[in-house]
Amino acid sequence: MPRIPDERPLSPQPGIIDELRRRLPTASVLSTPAELAPYECDGLTAFRQRPMVVVLPETVEQVQTVLRLCHAARVPVVARGAGTGLSGGALPLEDGVLLSLARFNRILHIDPDNGTARVQPGVRNLAITEAAAAHGLYYAPDPSSQIACSIGGNVAENSGGVHCLKYGLTVHNILRLTLIGIDGELFEVGAEALDSPGLDLLALMTGSEGMLAVIVEITVKLLPRPERAQGLLAAFDSVERAGAAVARLIASGITPAGLEMMDNPAIRAAEAFVHAGYPEDAAAVLICELDGFNAEVSFEVMRVRELLLDAGATEVRTARDDAERLNFWKGRKAAFPAVGRLSPDYYCMDGTIPRRELATVLKRIEALSERYGLRVANVFHAGDGNLHPLILYDANVPGELDKAEDFGGDILELCVQVGGTVTGEHGVGVEKLNQMCVQFDSDELTQMHAVKAAFDPHGLLNPGKAVPTLHRCAEFGAMHVHHGELKFPELPRF
Ligand SMILES: Cc1cc2nc3c(=O)[nH]c(=O)nc-3n(C[C@H](O)[C@H](O)[C@H](O)COP(=O)(O)OP(=O)(O)OC[C@H]3O[C@@H](n4cnc5c(N)ncnc54)[C@H](O)[C@@H]3O)c2cc1C
Repeated sequence: MPRIPDERPLSPQPGIIDELRRRLPTASVLSTPAELAPYECDGLTAFRQRPMVVVLPETVEQVQTVLRLCHAARVPVVARGAGTGLSGGALPLEDGVLLSLARFNRILHIDPDNGTARVQPGVRNLAITEAAAAHGLYYAPDPSSQIACSIGGNVAENSGGVHCLKYGLTVHNILRLTLIGIDGELFEVGAEALDSPGLDLLALMTGSEGMLAVIVEITVKLLPRPERAQGLLAAFDSVERAGAAVARLIASGITPAGLEMMDNPAIRAAEAFVHAGYPEDAAAVLICELDGFNAEVSFEVMRVRELLLDAGATEVRTARDDAERLNFWKGRKAAFPAVGRLSPDYYCMDGTIPRRELATVLKRIEALSERYGLRVANVFHAGDGNLHPLILYDANVPGELDKAEDFGGDILELCVQVGGTVTGEHGVGVEKLNQMCVQFDSDELTQMHAVKAAFDPHGLLNPGKAVPTLHRCAEFGAMHVHHGELKFPELPRF
């Protein structure tokens, strides 16, 4: 096991399992080792922990019952959607209840006139678009995991996707949430209308990684399907030139629906995997999608072609039809599993930088790759400046996982140095706790703990995730130091 979440004394409560069995249907409480095994990790598989018990409630009242019991017995609770998270957000606790929302999988209502849908949290992201298609509508945020991930998990992580460049992240595409607090109280934030009075708690809840409340219903916005979508693929002989082209394109005032980059290792891996016809000798390719009304798209395609050639593209292909556009995307969408064929293991990082820094940061990642002796494939949401370096390693080689983690940590710290963030769309979970110490100073972290305490005074909802303790930051040695003034000098540093 690599790093562990913030240390917290265990609070074993075996009695709670009997109590849960008394209050919930028999099939809703899992506690044998075989039943617990599938829940021991999320998509960050290097971290594993079997929970004390898994519950799969089917009604809001049952979720309330679970939370009230845990609150009274001071038992921690980790909510789980589809378990595709990549930062260990749904990693269970040995002495905790894992609360799966998988059975909350119904689309409750689609309102085409308002362009909204009311859905339960366990509904798959793609299922919303599939259901809305009959009305000519779709749900815009499209994580690559959209076939599997749940909308509840998307809200808790504020997930992004290829089309978030133009249409915004999850937070920009939801209107209202129904939640249950740790004490079992049901409450709503946001509104069906465009604005809601009071503090913007909808934004606070979005991306809160299951630490403030459990989401049991979501109203999402639906958008009309664009009349036309057009794909372009541009090849570059240097990664820096491709990075600079991204910044120039967006600065021109055109916002593509998606603008993604793959570097040479990712291009080769994807090509071998899906045979999309990518230029295998290119140092980088940009895949650009423009959408909207026909005339608007025709104009933008012309303009973007010019811009890309002007920025040094060695070749720009315009998809002749929808089949070719989808072909451009095929390799990008399959890039993660494709890279899996290059190396027994890879570690996917997620950080965001200002677009203008793309070229510099990619160059520095290359240098780090040489220093650590580990290869990297880059495939990412270039338009958003959201990097996903995939660090290739072999967990069977002693020390390589640690090396990959250190390398990943350096990349995230580099993101902060250039004015970016340690999070892009995968959340903090347990993975990036140390880097949160680099991003935020102790005053800021203290404020975050205060917000958590306002909703969850006993720290029972997903403890040890997303916001590091000040002790942890002191141990990591990366506490922000402002004007040479060391915060909390009394805390031991190692
Ligand atoms: C191959 C692959 C590709 C991916 N691509 C993308 C991508 O393009 N963009 C992107 O943003 N992410 C991506 N991800 C990451 C992941 O799919 C997203 O973070 C997703 O939103 C997680 O949803 P989930 O249902 O699996 O949540 P889980 O992993 O089950 O949980 C994630 C977090 O949400 C909390 N949570 C879940 N449900 C609730 C609830 N109802 N109430 C309160 N808290 C809750 C959990 O406690 C946890 O902290 C990818 C993952 C994989 C494996």
